[in-house]
Amino acid sequence: MPASAATAKWVEDLFAKSIVPTLVDYIKIPNKSAMFDPAWKQNGHMDRAVALLAGWAKQQLPEGATLEVVQLGERTPIIFIDIPASGLGAGRAGETVMLYGHLDKQPEMTGWREGLGPWTPVIEGDKLYGRGGADDGYAIFASLTAINTLRRDNLPHARCVVLIEACEESGSYDLPAYIDHLASRIGELSLVVCLDSGCANYDQLWSTTSLRGLVIGSLEVSLLTEGVHSGDGTGVVAASERVIRILLDRIDDSHTGVVKLPELATQIPRQRLAQAERTAEVIGDETFNKFPLQPGVVPVTANNVELILNRTWRPGLAITGADGWPSIGNAGNVLRPSTTLKLSIRIPPRVDPDKAQAAVKAVLEKDPPYGAKVSFTGGTASAGWDAPEMAQWLEKALTEASQRHFGKPAMYMGEGGTIPFMFMLGEKFPKAQFCITGVLGPGSNAHGPNEFLHLPTARKLTMCVADVLAAHAQR
Ligand SMILES: [Zn+2]
Repeated sequence: MPASAATAKWVEDLFAKSIVPTLVDYIKIPNKSAMFDPAWKQNGHMDRAVALLAGWAKQQLPEGATLEVVQLGERTPIIFIDIPASGLGAGRAGETVMLYGHLDKQPEMTGWREGLGPWTPVIEGDKLYGRGGADDGYAIFASLTAINTLRRDNLPHARCVVLIEACEESGSYDLPAYIDHLASRIGELSLVVCLDSGCANYDQLWSTTSLRGLVIGSLEVSLLTEGVHSGDGTGVVAASERVIRILLDRIDDSHTGVVKLPELATQIPRQRLAQAERTAEVIGDETFNKFPLQPGVVPVTANNVELILNRTWRPGLAITGADGWPSIGNAGNVLRPSTTLKLSIRIPPRVDPDKAQAAVKAVLEKDPPYGAKVSFTGGTASAGWDAPEMAQWLEKALTEASQRHFGKPAMYMGEGGTIPFMFMLGEKFPKAQFCITGVLGPGSNAHGPNEFLHLPTARKLTMCVADVLAAHAQR
């Protein structure tokens, strides 16, 4: 059931006059996730971001809805909005839709283009640059606006709860406590809408069919109690960085990037293979061209299907930080006493994150070369997610919404990132359907420099969510 032309215009105006200006203010707040700002409470940025978004939402609450900022003890807060059903028969009264997003942000990262910066909102054409606009500040705006779209056109919708957390980029470790705390107010979910995912282009509606999980930890290697003259020590004592190279080769093959641990691998379901083939047909070399490659750089394989499967259904290692190194300008000729690397290992859906983490720790700490002191600590492990079989009504709704608002067919693909909450919800509500989508498309570069929100896609997605909620009520 499409929104009326008047309502579509209302959404466009709301984005221009209210949503984008509020997102501009939101980008200015450096509310980094707790993992990257341990003093987040004292610094007050998170509370300011919550106040800004909750303040906007309060102005937009549908009739009968309530909004509460819930804060348990020292945990990061959440925004919880409860919106009663509208125009539905009593038979559907027990059903709830959850719309989920998050408002905590990744850290700054370097490499922002001249004139841009993580906390400097800049609008250029269709793009709003700055940290956290696309990942995932826009979610609360899109969710509430979708519901208000239905209200304006008197289209029925089920009861909805909007849950915006502030711990996602830290692995959502605070969320289970809130889900328990709010269990009776959340109720029985029949549909989950998540707007924190990606799209392979900005031309159609992309549904996420799987997510990878994530194992994080710090690998520390030490052979000396203090640094020594490198002219004295090299050739006598092994360098900690060389020992780390040996250890990392136990995780993946440095020539191919293929992860060696069987605990981190899974069988790829046939339907997901077919979806990867279809995605490769539609996006072609955009699979790798979307990355800011240096001239002459080629992807790890020329086969786009394999690239899609690598980023969605196979594990992959990145080293995201290092300690124990002086900056180059201050680097003397020293055999350093220790090296620490932060490892970030994406794991496929269906892989047990705790077993994966234990396997990584065991293989790194086993039989240390030269008797080096080796530890893998401080980690977190989050599960990936594989969508349940999609109900016919939802597939139809996505197909029609994509045609209506984008003029192209809906597409399905796995994502390489992690949204820990989706696995938690899938476990808790095995009968729920999932509509996971997002604006993290080519160049949007969430987590990296030059992150942007593609504004037309945010608007169109909002309309698509409204259509999905309408179809859910009318199924
Ligand atoms: Zn996110």
